[in-house]
Amino acid sequence: MLDADFFRRWLTTAAAAVDREADRLTELDSPIGDADHGSNLQRGFTAVASVLEKEAPDTPGAVLTLAGRQLISTVGGASGPLYGTLLRRTGKSLGDAAQVSEAEFADALRTGVDAVAALGGAAPGDKTMLDALVPAVDALPTSFAAARAAAHEGALATTPLQARKGRASYLGERSIGHQDPGATSSALLFEALAETAGE
Ligand code: ADP
Ligand code: MG
Ligand code: MG
Repeated sequence: MLDADFFRRWLTTAAAAVDREADRLTELDSPIGDADHGSNLQRGFTAVASVLEKEAPDTPGAVLTLAGRQLISTVGGASGPLYGTLLRRTGKSLGDAAQVSEAEFADALRTGVDAVAALGGAAPGDKTMLDALVPAVDALPTSFAAARAAAHEGALATTPLQARKGRASYLGERSIGHQDPGATSSALLFEALAETAGE
């Protein structure tokens, strides 16, 4: 079973990973975006780690909804509302249980990923974070390690795609040949999740 502490550790580990990889995420956002993805997420996840420490929410649902709200209010770019919605909707779907099973978490995360698709109007293949999130959530019932591998593969597979959503879509065919920054940060989130689960 997964408790509030597990989710706090996940998001703190994710904040450290975003911090470590911020320059790379911003570099990926420079040929097909506006070179701010790393700094956007760094600001957001630093704020998430600090609010979680301050408020110490005591259920998985409360941890995720608080983190999601914090991302929405601190990140100006497209990724803030999208990741914020992912966490908030996942958290809402977990309700107020003190502990959740891995299967319940996988179902809740599916609801969160569906909400990201609804908010942004994107589908897998559009060269967005969904290209990592959807395969990861498909693999999650198997294991956190399987989800990490699927997210990583999904992020790499965005390189040959032409962007159909977000800022990169303005470039049309010139978006081909570059890995999507948001899919790359999504892979980092699943890497942090597997690490937190000890896989
Ligand atoms: P901005 O584009 O506003 O500067 P960021 O650079 O932080 O925001 O985030 C860009 C990432 O957001 C993209 O690489 C992509 O993965 C993701 N993204 C953008 N628009 C959408 C969308 N409509 N649906 C899903 N993901 C999106
Ligand atoms: Mg950007
Ligand atoms: Mg921007």
